[in-house]
Amino acid sequence: MTDRVDVVVVGGGQAGLAAGYHLRRQNLDFTVLDASPAPGGSWQHMWDSLHLFSPAEHSSLPGRLMPAQTGETYPDAGHVVDYLADYEKRYDLPVQHGTRVDAVRHDGDQLLVEADTGLWRARAVISATGIWSRPFLPAVPGRSAFAGRQLHTVNYRSPADFTGQRVVVVGGGNSGAQIAADLALDGQVEVTWVTQREPRFLADDIDGRALFDVATARRRALEEGRSDTGGVASLGDIVAVPPVRAARDAGLLVAKPMFTRLATNGVRWADGGHTVVDAVIWCTGFRPALAHLAPLNLRTAPGHIPTDGTRALGDERVHLLGYGDWTGPASATLIGVGRPARDAARQIKALCAPK
Ligand code: FAD
Repeated sequence: MTDRVDVVVVGGGQAGLAAGYHLRRQNLDFTVLDASPAPGGSWQHMWDSLHLFSPAEHSSLPGRLMPAQTGETYPDAGHVVDYLADYEKRYDLPVQHGTRVDAVRHDGDQLLVEADTGLWRARAVISATGIWSRPFLPAVPGRSAFAGRQLHTVNYRSPADFTGQRVVVVGGGNSGAQIAADLALDGQVEVTWVTQREPRFLADDIDGRALFDVATARRRALEEGRSDTGGVASLGDIVAVPPVRAARDAGLLVAKPMFTRLATNGVRWADGGHTVVDAVIWCTGFRPALAHLAPLNLRTAPGHIPTDGTRALGDERVHLLGYGDWTGPASATLIGVGRPARDAARQIKALCAPK
């Protein structure tokens, strides 16, 4: 049996919920299909010490301010999960957890959504599947020969898993800096941090609030036809959140240039030196989870579907939300996803209007 709705939202993390909020405001009939058995999207899987890089009131989805977390200026991931679960309930969003979408296909003037629990026909689809399910590991020589532990950001939990061990953390972004700081501050782990280029720390007074302001200024400049201000990437890569600052100031966060290869028991450096290590943690980023859209042939480059705002250039019935700046400035953040979600819902409303 096939269910019919105006819109299927694929993914029920923050982006999918923000989409649901705005689709409801447009009086559209929709359902949200989410592979995760419980609310909270990827926030359910972050490492133990992770805190947001913005205070609660600057990390809110449309309509409902995130409450402050007692004793914390920057809330932890568990607080975000609670907020998203409450948001879903408060707005009575029709989220079907534990439902994975395998494919979206053309079906005349409709789209056919194939999930592991059933089929849906929809006039439009909003894809909001995030990046967490597609960790990226670079092709480094010797990676398969290394006999120690290798894990990605998605598998890291806490320093307790590495007590007494020698660990290399790879990656000059926020995850790499935060995980290296987490391990270094613990004092029980011998940690080496390696980055492809010299780490670029943002100024200490720049947190998510300032980044959002910069992204907003960029959007305005582009909308008004002024020159590109460069956005947040022009400021640096690493937000100096309190643990990163503490580790850096204590001299514990000094990056080495990337090793040239992995050996059976460690890493080899460009100068021929060798360090024995027990584990390598790859904080080397993600790719957007877009496999379910493959039958629509919308990709022009691996991992990228070109859009105008959130709308896929190749099919006006398909919108992409979250993922990265190419679907709207700051759209992959809690506070930034509301605006592109609103725009997507408005465009879909116009598409569904009787002609
Ligand atoms: P997700 O939270 O990943 O949700 C996607 C949902 O889609 C998941 O529930 C998943 O199960 C589901 N799904 C995936 N594939 C399918 C499928 N085929 N069918 C059905 N369901 C599917 N942002 C901030 O604003 N502040 C921060 O401090 C911040 N810190 C971050 C720290 C880290 C380490 C990372 C990685 C990101 C951070 N972000 C932060 C960015 C962003 O807010 C998060 O990545 C956020 O989880 C993105 O939300 P999302 O809804 O796009 O994706």
